[in-house]
Amino acid sequence: MRSFDYQRAGTLEHAGQLVAEDGAKAIAGGTNLLDLMKLQVETPETIVDISRLALDGIDEVDGGGLRIGAMVTNTDTAVDPRVRADYPMLSRAILAGATQQLRNRATTGGNLCQRTRCYYFTKTDQPCNKRDPGSGCGAIDGVARLHAVLGTSDQCIATYPGDMAVALAALDATVDIASPNGRSRSVPVRNFHCLPGDTPWIENVLERGEIITSVILPAPVGGRQVYRKVRERSSYAFAMVSVAAIVDVANGRIARADLAFGGLAHKPWHDPRLSDLLVGKAPDRALFAKAADLLLEDAVSQGENAFKIPLARRTLIAVLAQATGEVS
Ligand code: SF4
Repeated sequence: MRSFDYQRAGTLEHAGQLVAEDGAKAIAGGTNLLDLMKLQVETPETIVDISRLALDGIDEVDGGGLRIGAMVTNTDTAVDPRVRADYPMLSRAILAGATQQLRNRATTGGNLCQRTRCYYFTKTDQPCNKRDPGSGCGAIDGVARLHAVLGTSDQCIATYPGDMAVALAALDATVDIASPNGRSRSVPVRNFHCLPGDTPWIENVLERGEIITSVILPAPVGGRQVYRKVRERSSYAFAMVSVAAIVDVANGRIARADLAFGGLAHKPWHDPRLSDLLVGKAPDRALFAKAADLLLEDAVSQGENAFKIPLARRTLIAVLAQATGEVS
């Protein structure tokens, strides 16, 4: 690991000023950044410790819903009784990720900003447009088992690795962001992460000096919540495919169907066409198969990850069957 300066931010304004400096990186739990620094994938000149900012606590907001502070650990979110009661999908998604030790350190804000686990990204002697723009993409025609099948580009086919954000996308949560000029803004989680396009090193909409302050969960809605993660072993593994779903059935018809997917793209994947297709229809296997067709109509595999397309299809159909009670 290369040497670096350490600064501890005392206030949000101070943190914004420090993080806006060239070569500065914010650190909270450090569960991803420190690993990448040891591998020399990340080589910040200064790390700005924001872990002691007053961005903790889970509070109720006007009109229902919860504000989860950016420094709240994944463990504290997952075990919060209000989260477990009203947003069980979020609790399950968090508990499906990483290990207990990592969840005890990982924060809400940091989890949203975690970086891909592409093998070529973490090996500095390999080509990777995300780490070293213009060097090429080793994963295309290479080891691509974990890689994306939706929203890829000829520059990058990496996946966003997290679980929490997939549930937040299905819940239509919002990210609150503080800017160094004292202003703040809010971005739906569904729009927070970026597709790779020609700039795969840009992974989210945060601008220089901006810091996530909280995540807002909307007021709870009716329906059954499911988070299903398919992975190669039962713990401490990233999703090959994951599905987060809130589905409500009333009078024999689907009244709500909010879905998001992990393991398929450079961001938690949300396709509003699925809700349009499903809502108002009677739930059955033929409808679920149509939803899978729609989800995957533009899917492109890279050899090793071809299995993800039928796996995503089967997983979506199974989740819809479970969520609607149409289990065969
Ligand atoms: Fe780098 Fe993206 Fe290609 Fe992986 S898929 S090697 S992260 S450019």
